[in-house]
Amino acid sequence: MLYRSLGRSGLKLSVLSLGSWVTFATQVDEASARDLMACAFERGVTFFDNAESYAFGESERLMGRAIQKLGWPRDRFCVSSKAFFGSVPQPIPTQHGLSRKHLVEACHQALSRLQVDYLDLFFCHRADPDTPVEEIVTTMQHLIYQGKILYWGTSEWPAALIETACRVAESQHTEPPVMEQPQYNLFVRKRVEEEYRSLCQDSGIGLTTWSPLASGVLTGKYAPGESISSDGGRLRLPGYEWLAARLNTVTGTRQLEASRKLIALARDHGTTASQLAIAWCLSNPHVSSVILGASRKSQLLENLSAVDWVHRMSPELTKEIEALYPDPE
Ligand code: NDP
Repeated sequence: MLYRSLGRSGLKLSVLSLGSWVTFATQVDEASARDLMACAFERGVTFFDNAESYAFGESERLMGRAIQKLGWPRDRFCVSSKAFFGSVPQPIPTQHGLSRKHLVEACHQALSRLQVDYLDLFFCHRADPDTPVEEIVTTMQHLIYQGKILYWGTSEWPAALIETACRVAESQHTEPPVMEQPQYNLFVRKRVEEEYRSLCQDSGIGLTTWSPLASGVLTGKYAPGESISSDGGRLRLPGYEWLAARLNTVTGTRQLEASRKLIALARDHGTTASQLAIAWCLSNPHVSSVILGASRKSQLLENLSAVDWVHRMSPELTKEIEALYPDPE
């Protein structure tokens, strides 16, 4: 495993991490989740990503029980939570957003569900136009002072708002956000590569990126024109109709075609489309950690081996991969 600094902070994360969205407590039961976590940990993964909203808190509960059962020393792993969407199906105003009330409650609930004394990373899962940035910054500072969180950051915030949060923190002599969690894959690149460029270069924001395989599409397993759930993947699951709908658009068809070409390119290089897609994410030096998703161990093992490709990503290979989908979002 390789490790990279989380932006300007002193924390180093494994460059590949494991997330639990749409898998833990939905596709994956407790024993399998524990197996996935053990498999990742044994191969050097130190960061496990979660959020209050994943399976309405069940994903955090399951991860917490796994951590207890596996008996990991607290200094060997990092765990995150994210607040914004709430952890119940229809949250009332006190139960979601980024108000001080909800951030404090969400943090306490995550600590209890994950059975840890502190969260290593605590994210504002989306921007909240109803809460002043000053309130968010001071709440995060209180949580840090109380030893309940170590680092705080954002997920899918506009760059300008993150810059404002950094300025507010500087003027208050408090801890600024140090990380952002954006989507980043061959189809979705502009926010990371353009909008966040100066945040990463000048403000020292580190990125823990999500959906490296565009929800599995970049594995190439969904062929254009075929039944897109033919492999028994997540598209059969209730709630993921959005992915099927997206793949049935013109853009979706182009993405499926690019994925098929990625398989061929990977084959020529003696690897798999997943490994190339993940290694490509890591070829961006601003990416601190790529968060993997896996519904079974064979997927995780394949994806973790992408780390062997990081040093083999020549500029020529990078160009070839990017040429497969020249108009990313
Ligand atoms: P990916 O794009 O990597 O998709 C993962 C899914 O792809 C798996 O669940 C599996 O689905 C399929 N898959 C993975 N590997 C393989 C393989 N080798 N062969 C075939 N199929 C494979 O990541 P996610 O979209 O799941 O995101 C990863 C993590 O990022 C999440 O768990 C979460 O922690 C975080 N995240 C954060 C967000 C945010 O707003 N901050 C938003 C979304 C995710 P299946 O088997 O069902 O086909």
